[in-house]
Amino acid sequence: MSRLFPFHGGLKTVRHKTESNQQAIRPAPVPRRLVVPLRQHIGAIAKPLVQPGDRVLKGQMIGQAEGYISAAVHAPTSGVVTALDQRPVPHPSGLADWCVTVESDGEERWVERKPVDYHRLHPSELRNLLRNAGVVGLGGAAFPSAVKLNLSGHCDRLETLILNGAECEPWITCDDRLMRERAAGIVAGLHIIAHLLEPREVLIGIEDDKPEAIAAMTAACAGTGYQVRVVPTRYPSGSVKQLVKLLTGRETPVDGLPVDVGVQCFNVATAHTIHRAVDYGEPVISRVVTVTGQVRQPGNVEALLGTPFVELVELCGGYQDGVERLIMGGPMMGFALHGDEVPVTKATNCILAASAEQLTPDRPVMPCIRCGACVDVCPANLLPQQLYWHARAKEFDKAQDYHLFSCIECGCCSYVCPSRIPLVQYYRYAKNEIWAQEKEKQKAELARQRHQARLERLEREKQEREAKLRQKAPPRSEPAVAKPTLETAVARAKTSPAPTLETTAETVNRDG
Ligand code: SF4
Ligand code: SF4
Repeated sequence: MSRLFPFHGGLKTVRHKTESNQQAIRPAPVPRRLVVPLRQHIGAIAKPLVQPGDRVLKGQMIGQAEGYISAAVHAPTSGVVTALDQRPVPHPSGLADWCVTVESDGEERWVERKPVDYHRLHPSELRNLLRNAGVVGLGGAAFPSAVKLNLSGHCDRLETLILNGAECEPWITCDDRLMRERAAGIVAGLHIIAHLLEPREVLIGIEDDKPEAIAAMTAACAGTGYQVRVVPTRYPSGSVKQLVKLLTGRETPVDGLPVDVGVQCFNVATAHTIHRAVDYGEPVISRVVTVTGQVRQPGNVEALLGTPFVELVELCGGYQDGVERLIMGGPMMGFALHGDEVPVTKATNCILAASAEQLTPDRPVMPCIRCGACVDVCPANLLPQQLYWHARAKEFDKAQDYHLFSCIECGCCSYVCPSRIPLVQYYRYAKNEIWAQEKEKQKAELARQRHQARLERLEREKQEREAKLRQKAPPRSEPAVAKPTLETAVARAKTSPAPTLETTAETVNRDG
């Protein structure tokens, strides 16, 4: 076994994998209505390409990537667009966002799919293909993959490419099942990633509680030179910076990215979608979702994006008694939902119907006793209690001095805090406040620039008007001069200031 480099902190959590990882992935039926958010990724919202009344084919682009950090969105099935409006989406805020609603015609008619030989494409063409196929990180972050596949400006040569199969959240098993069942497709996607990034080595990190996935991936990697590395089951080993440290020993700088230390990391499900996009010409229109907790038949389902959560819960036998909260993601890093009508998006790796016992007990919050337990478990090497003090006191500058934005919101500190302080909530609040203040600053700056631009425009228009007026005025030619007579010359000479006799004579001579 190759050497591992343990990261600081982390936890042994109670595992709930076997509840959902015992059966094969089930395809979810096509719902009658799909609500497809135009923002399913980090970055700019996709620009809608359809209007209500339009007919669409399965896989047809309905939202175009806008800007560098963005990704396209596609119709998950064939049918008719019935709405383009704001609808509730799975987000901690519970706010609505722009969505395209597609009524299925039940025919599942595909748009023309064009597989490509990626060896024949220029790297920028291949990245553009993935952008237009809507490929984003499916581990939960939903960052556009085309951006991560472009190293320019970061490093000349990638040392290590990591494929993340760690899946450390206690309840989630979608990557586990995917590796067991579709290892060949994942490795085919990995070939494409490696073709673009040309790393010196390729490592695949999988936690030791997934022996079947380890076996399947090891078999699929035979003869490729890719190395499957088994890592201890310790939360949050699936978090990118922690996995990079664990496998390579390299520390990603605070406020930096793994690529800054020559490493790039992709989730196994992302590799699989890259394979489907390139080798089959299929955009991202579905994903595997773990449905678990207080449902009668927990498991993993392959759902079309836009499928309402409630339909997946029903597919898994419906709710059991005692559901306290519906969570998207795991109990550690996920967030509570405001309802179960929201649609599956590219970031939906798990729907957890949690009972009160499965959540952190709701005990009264006590004052911080400065025990330091949160410092011991923080995998980002932060001082969580200091962050808490400053976030609570709204001292956001000081919170940033303590690297608030390096907090990965893993929840380890809240989990161990004997005073039951909901520390992560304070960090999220502080981050949101800072972002809001930044936005206000940007708005004020934009308003100032607009005002300045207006003043400059008014001045420019004024000058243009004056120039036009000058052009319209009669040309300033020499006035017609009557031929002077000797009398008029004498008369002018009388009124002119002290001309000399010589000059008067000269004038007369010249004019005459
Ligand atoms: S674990 Fe809780 S009580 Fe202990 S130092 Fe951290 S915030 Fe304070
Ligand atoms: S939530 Fe943030 S501060 Fe708390 S342990 Fe995780 S990284 Fe550290």
